[in-house]
Amino acid sequence: MNIWENKVNFGYSSLADGNLDFRFDDKEIVASRRKEFFARVGIDPAKSVAMIAEHANNMALVTAGDAGKGIFSSDDQYFLDGLITREKNFNLILAVADCIALVLYDEANEVLAMVHVGSKNLAIGTVDKAIQAIKINNSEIHAATSPFIKKCCYRFETIPKHLEALKDYFIEKDGAYFLDTESALQNQLIESGVKEENIEISRLCSMHDNFPSHRNSKKMNLPESRMLVYARML
Ligand SMILES: [Zn+2]
Repeated sequence: MNIWENKVNFGYSSLADGNLDFRFDDKEIVASRRKEFFARVGIDPAKSVAMIAEHANNMALVTAGDAGKGIFSSDDQYFLDGLITREKNFNLILAVADCIALVLYDEANEVLAMVHVGSKNLAIGTVDKAIQAIKINNSEIHAATSPFIKKCCYRFETIPKHLEALKDYFIEKDGAYFLDTESALQNQLIESGVKEENIEISRLCSMHDNFPSHRNSKKMNLPESRMLVYARML
């Protein structure tokens, strides 16, 4: 039984849905694109909450009282790196491009989390922090991700100081360094007690598989774009 089809509805927008982040386009246009995307994938915006990444380590437990926050306006969106809920049929939504949207699900205790994991978050322990935030004695946590930038494309001239904790995951090639985000995430999940068979990391690379990509926008001089990733317990 695939838990991600029967217990948690999880998905993401595509390049064709357009930029879905209020920061990079007229707010009315983004709101109407979001409306179309929600209708296409069957999301009820009145039962949803969205956050924008802080690149820190803060998380919040959200309830039905938070419904609608950050959905059609950026004024009331959460600015942090993790949303946790116990509500069923309640969408946790995150805008990303290249960063990892990590969904954590504890079936026995009916807890769902949406976590923003950028390279900085991999360096500062956000994955473990999120798991510890939802874990109780009998937890069996499942993890899945959206497409994100992989070692094929995540190129650095040198290892940045703020990513030194990840130095074992930089692969030196052609005079540059490529960050293996996938291995770093996989190892951090396992170190935090998630079983290997419960981890489903997307094989897609946001940069070369045609998803909104911050790196690709910079390289090709294209406008910035973000996709939405959503998850809800059924
Ligand atoms: Zn790639």
